[in-house]
Amino acid sequence: MFEIQSNLAQLTEKLIIVWKGTIGSRTSIKILLLLGIPVLAVCMFFSQARCAVVWDGDVVAVARDRDIAEIAVQNYLNQLEKTVGMPVKIKDDAIKFRPVWRLGAVADEKEIKRCLADKLDYQYEASGIFIDGKKVAAVRDASIGQEVLDKLLNTYSRNGRWEVAFKQKVTVKPVTVDGYELMDIDQAVEYIQFGGIGVRKYQVKEGDTLWDVAVSANIPVEELIEANPSLTPETMQIGQEIKISRPAPLADVLTTYKDVRQEEIVYRVQEKVDQNLYWGEQRLVQKGSPGQREVVYAVTLENGLETDREVMQQKTIKEPVPQIIAKGNKKLLAFRGGNSRLAYPTIGAIVSPFGSRWGRIHEGVDIAANYGSPVVAAEAGTVQCAGNRGGYGLCVDISHGSGVVTRYAHLSSVVVESGQRVERGQFIGRAGSSGNSTGPHLHFEVIVNGTHKNPALFI
Ligand SMILES: [Zn+2]
Repeated sequence: MFEIQSNLAQLTEKLIIVWKGTIGSRTSIKILLLLGIPVLAVCMFFSQARCAVVWDGDVVAVARDRDIAEIAVQNYLNQLEKTVGMPVKIKDDAIKFRPVWRLGAVADEKEIKRCLADKLDYQYEASGIFIDGKKVAAVRDASIGQEVLDKLLNTYSRNGRWEVAFKQKVTVKPVTVDGYELMDIDQAVEYIQFGGIGVRKYQVKEGDTLWDVAVSANIPVEELIEANPSLTPETMQIGQEIKISRPAPLADVLTTYKDVRQEEIVYRVQEKVDQNLYWGEQRLVQKGSPGQREVVYAVTLENGLETDREVMQQKTIKEPVPQIIAKGNKKLLAFRGGNSRLAYPTIGAIVSPFGSRWGRIHEGVDIAANYGSPVVAAEAGTVQCAGNRGGYGLCVDISHGSGVVTRYAHLSSVVVESGQRVERGQFIGRAGSSGNSTGPHLHFEVIVNGTHKNPALFI
């Protein structure tokens, strides 16, 4: 401006010289006026021109000159960035400077700043959090963005002991955003953790009410109805599917960790034949005991819920001890098979026959078996009862079909149970003196259609 003014002074000086030299010449005066007046007007304009600050086509303020205008704008933006604490971005070429003719008062820096504050919209140069390329949140800067990601991951890292990673591609990149989009760390974490809507399906069970379903899904009934517009409590049917929407994370966190476990190894059961045991009799030779192993699992969780478990390695710490059971195959010599006759049920002679005895009927035969002598089934059949039965003591009844039942009484032990199928000659227990008995013997009965028969006729 100063330059223009000094030029103007020089020009005036020259004009005066020219005027003096051509005085009296009418042509010269004409030329002078023709050239001089527009030049003068232009000079006058520029010497008095001010600078307008233009925002988006509108004049915001008029400064005395361009320097003042530019400095005021720059200072305003600097101050703004200092106040908000982050880079401020205005639209490219949104602010322009334009000379204007203004005779009245011009705005000083303070006034220009005030006008700018009223008019300007600006955006922030912030950091965006992107999930699979889609912006989901904006934060002040990249380090805060990283903090958000760390916080999301650490929710499932068990204080850093477990490895965590996002299932989706999650990145932090620079973005330009409006002020209202900015979130602080906790807001961004919460938004990403619960910002999505997941849908689960529930099948209506008998007796379910809409209220029950809402309570078990932990959502209000209104939301349930909203998610299922066609649903009415009156028409709800068993087996019908109800959509349950619930907050779901926008980014899923995958956790992996090694789970080391001590596990039991189940022992095997081995059977071997022992010639000294009777057919159907068995004895525990060696008690089995479980072994122990250490298994390392690679466990994967998604948002804290286990989704996969794989065995990485395992080693045996203690071998299991198998259980060994001896089974007999010895058969009583007296038992020779045959279709019409029953097998002799134990070892010993008949000492007390069937029939009248001491004034009452003896309903079977007594066989003088030693205490512990094996007792076998006289014929194939099904055990009807096995256990203590009053005067009979420990007693077994076997039904052979066609209404034939055999009874073995006063036993010292029983190895069969009610309902069990037994073969002819199979070991069922041992002779004894239980119940109403004067000494060890086997009381043996044969009952045909509910009537006691003389066993001696059958064996
Ligand atoms: Zn008897």
